[in-house]
Amino acid sequence: MAHGVEAIIGLEVHVQLRTRTKLFCACRNAYGAEPNSLTCPVCLGLPGALPVLNGEAVRQGLALGLALGARLQPVSTFYRKQYVYPDLPKGYQITQGPVALVEGGTLEIPADPLVRGGGGTLRAGIERAHLEEDAGKSLHGDGRTRVDLNRAGVPLLEIVGAPDLRSPQEASDYLKALHRLVVFLGICDGNLEEGSFRCDANVSLRPAGSDAFGTRVEIKNLNSFRFVKQSLAFEIRRQASLLERGEPVIPETRGWDAAAGETRAQRTKEAAMDYRFFPEPDLPPLGLDPGEVEAVRRMLPELPEARIRRYRERLGVSEEDARTLMQSPAFADYFEALAGASGDGRAAARWMLGEVSRVLNERGIPIQAFSLEPAALGALVRLVLEGKVALGAAREEVFPALLAGEGPADAIVRQRGLGRVPADPVRLEALVRQVLAAHPEAVAQIRAGRDRLRGFLVGQILKAGGGALDPKAVQAALDAALPEFLAKP
Ligand code: ADP
Ligand code: MG
Ligand code: ZN
Repeated sequence: MAHGVEAIIGLEVHVQLRTRTKLFCACRNAYGAEPNSLTCPVCLGLPGALPVLNGEAVRQGLALGLALGARLQPVSTFYRKQYVYPDLPKGYQITQGPVALVEGGTLEIPADPLVRGGGGTLRAGIERAHLEEDAGKSLHGDGRTRVDLNRAGVPLLEIVGAPDLRSPQEASDYLKALHRLVVFLGICDGNLEEGSFRCDANVSLRPAGSDAFGTRVEIKNLNSFRFVKQSLAFEIRRQASLLERGEPVIPETRGWDAAAGETRAQRTKEAAMDYRFFPEPDLPPLGLDPGEVEAVRRMLPELPEARIRRYRERLGVSEEDARTLMQSPAFADYFEALAGASGDGRAAARWMLGEVSRVLNERGIPIQAFSLEPAALGALVRLVLEGKVALGAAREEVFPALLAGEGPADAIVRQRGLGRVPADPVRLEALVRQVLAAHPEAVAQIRAGRDRLRGFLVGQILKAGGGALDPKAVQAALDAALPEFLAKP
């Protein structure tokens, strides 16, 4: 970034809730159905139709509020936001105002050391989260535009973040943490391509050290983590060069052109629409019942950050691996079942991030469609840990055979003759001496106190044994033969 300026970033995220029905009617909340097959007089906005609030959407909003440590408003209210657009047959959207269901709260993310002068954890503020209904969708093609109203009235939670972020990296980390939270809470399917989780990014610059905010630009409708990062980096450069030339930043809404790699002006804030907000007369204020809030609290699952900590502290998995294991609730659940079945968290993590991920990527399937039960794979992982089959043979032969349904791991090992037979001690000793004689420089280094070279020698012996040797037996044979080689320089 240009010298002496600081970027201020605040994100607004629209989360499509995972309710069975829409926000104010009994139409199904589903993606991909025949256009206009999921509509009724309420979501079509026909005269006289009356909205009824969906309790499940309220409970999902409360779950997020509790997870963020926010203030849940005892009474919140609904407003009409009026505008004219083909995908909004009612002519208005029902949203919340001036009081939202959820106010305040924080989200923990890693601080960006490049802009903060130090790492650690940043508690990014949340301004509010409110319920609102989605609009329909315009379908462009064949030189005309058609409208699909299946999405009209689908429940959204708009989560407005405080302007607490200072770099595109922090914006991307905030968005990933929020995405993981709503997916693990089970309130959003998290599908970015289908628009279930979309983001508007606000950004302004100011001289470093100043407390006043500069003029902000809003980048609309970003549906990937990468686009958020790229568009913010572009916009920061654009605004910085305007300011360097002494030109003003115009308060406006811009769009991200991914192909061109730049933001483009859409409309200025001066030309912003007057939404003529007024209280929704057809809906009473939403009052919270303390008993219901308690029920939601009791139903909260273990939160993602707590789960990552548990993987690190109790299962011995690295921070980075723990985060990768949390790529989806089903993937994390499978990992936990595998750790249980194999009795080793670290080995389970290696299999999940190695062989299992490779197969999922090759087949383009999620873990839910993976054919192996965690117990069946766990039996193989255990055979490796017990030294009964070499890791290489387990990966290259037994695992594919397991996937092909050739039976349980121990039977495959037996049938294919992959089991490790205890090495013939005389032949093992001969092999060890051969390797030691072939690596005098490694022996010399061990003599000089570099004990790490023992591991290298074990590796060489295992390789010479064609992967059929038990590392523990090799270790012992090396320990027995080494003193003699160390004694004669
Ligand atoms: P609007 O409806 O105009 O978008 P909102 O209050 O809904 O206003 O959202 C404001 C968003 O802009 C918040 O996410 C907030 O963090 C962010 N924001 C406010 N001021 C600035 C600023 N000067 N620079 C960057 N982001 C800002
Ligand atoms: Mg906005
Ligand atoms: Zn409907």
